[in-house]
Amino acid sequence: MMKFSARFEGRFPHVIVVGGGFAGLELVRQFKNQPFEVTLIDKQNFHTFQPLLYQLASGGIGPDGIAYPLRKIVGVIPNIRFRMAEVQSVDLVQKCVKTNVGTFPYDYLILATGAATHFFGNKAIEAQAFGLKSIQDALALRSSILLRFEKAINASSKDERLSHLHFVVVGGGPTGVETAGALIEMKQHVLPVDYRELDASEMKVTLIEASPRILAAMSPTSSERARLDLEQMGVEVKLGVAVQSYQSGVIRLSDGENLKAETLIWSAGVKGAFPEGLDASLVGKSNRLMVNRYLQLQSHHDVWVVGDVALVVGDEQYPNGHPMVAPVAVQQAKIAAFNIKSQANGKPLRAFKYRDNGSMATIGRHKAVMEAMGFKLSGILAWLGWMFLHLMLLVGFRNRLIVFINWMWNYFSYQRAIRLITRQDVFTGQNQKSAYQNENQ
Ligand SMILES: Cc1cc2nc3c(=O)[nH]c(=O)nc-3n(C[C@H](O)[C@H](O)[C@H](O)COP(=O)(O)OP(=O)(O)OC[C@H]3O[C@@H](n4cnc5c(N)ncnc54)[C@H](O)[C@@H]3O)c2cc1C
Repeated sequence: MMKFSARFEGRFPHVIVVGGGFAGLELVRQFKNQPFEVTLIDKQNFHTFQPLLYQLASGGIGPDGIAYPLRKIVGVIPNIRFRMAEVQSVDLVQKCVKTNVGTFPYDYLILATGAATHFFGNKAIEAQAFGLKSIQDALALRSSILLRFEKAINASSKDERLSHLHFVVVGGGPTGVETAGALIEMKQHVLPVDYRELDASEMKVTLIEASPRILAAMSPTSSERARLDLEQMGVEVKLGVAVQSYQSGVIRLSDGENLKAETLIWSAGVKGAFPEGLDASLVGKSNRLMVNRYLQLQSHHDVWVVGDVALVVGDEQYPNGHPMVAPVAVQQAKIAAFNIKSQANGKPLRAFKYRDNGSMATIGRHKAVMEAMGFKLSGILAWLGWMFLHLMLLVGFRNRLIVFINWMWNYFSYQRAIRLITRQDVFTGQNQKSAYQNENQ
């Protein structure tokens, strides 16, 4: 059993927070200087600002703009410490978590472990498609996109070249829309400058969505506006079709069409991710852990679950669970911290009620859609609003400054500043990409 550091004397209840994402960071804020000893555990030593991963993948910004060291956040807070460790299992009876660096006992446990890409059991697609959930995913995708351009130059036939230059994005949620928009901007502004040997008009971006419209969480007006914007920029949007298989560079669609493309980007779904040791009866839809309105794990009232991995049961407004977005994670973290403090002091708990402040997606230069407080906005105002909000939400002044400078550079130069191929083995055969990712996670 691992020893606590000198700072932790066991005078106060020990809270373990697993996950330093949006929920984890808010929990750190809520427990700062409170009469609790808190251990924040994450398998990475940094927080990832996932909403801008697509910009990392398309070379618009570097990893240091959207990642923030967790030790820098907790280092100055006396009652909170950080451990870089992967929680492998939870023992609800012994009240401890088992990690690759030792076992940690808890009085209160908060699981904020987020979500993973959901391939719906399709192993072939999982092995070959790119997900976009982590810095490692985005860096692998960036290398792959740029390598495809290099390969296209040396292709021995037009067919082969077109296949290298065809990028298919699956899933018409904000991530898919933003990724497709960023790729088509590479076609417009990067390809003609950096890859003059290629005919830029041969690059193609296809966005596939199984439901009848993209951005289904927004109003039909905003969905339609986003579709028209994407199409006007040159993205082919296919609605009402699903991907059935992906073999040897051929994507088979549910309407019988076959698309030849060497790059498939999967943003069609996410599922809850959590350590082992939790009974199957605790797991609900989309592999999320079922919690009551107070965010406690069913029948284990010293364990709390927040963020993407939590499925709140009994909220009539959200019978299928809350959306997997950052504001839900932050608001749930606030309630979980409040309830733990209340429970420790014998006070009544508060039920979680999601306050939806709206949603937005950016499509490209001067193009975005935004809905908030009954208002719908699109075009340049929505685009500026999107940029301002994302800058403000980034962790740390340095990160904001780095991202802002990169955006200004990209805006005025029409370039994607960080066009670096950092790995060359991302697609040299089936399973190579996953092997690379496993090795780096
Ligand atoms: C590409 C992309 C774009 C997005 N865009 C938006 C957007 O525009 N707006 C929006 O509101 N939301 C967006 N989201 C969703 C948003 O990022 C998530 O809802 C949010 O990150 C959830 O926060 P969380 O704290 O629950 O989990 P996360 O932020 O995912 O954090 C989970 C943490 O847990 C750690 N962890 C997981 N398992 C373990 C383990 N076993 N042991 C130790 N540590 C572990 C992980 O390393 C990670 O740091 C986007 C997501 C993606 C992937």
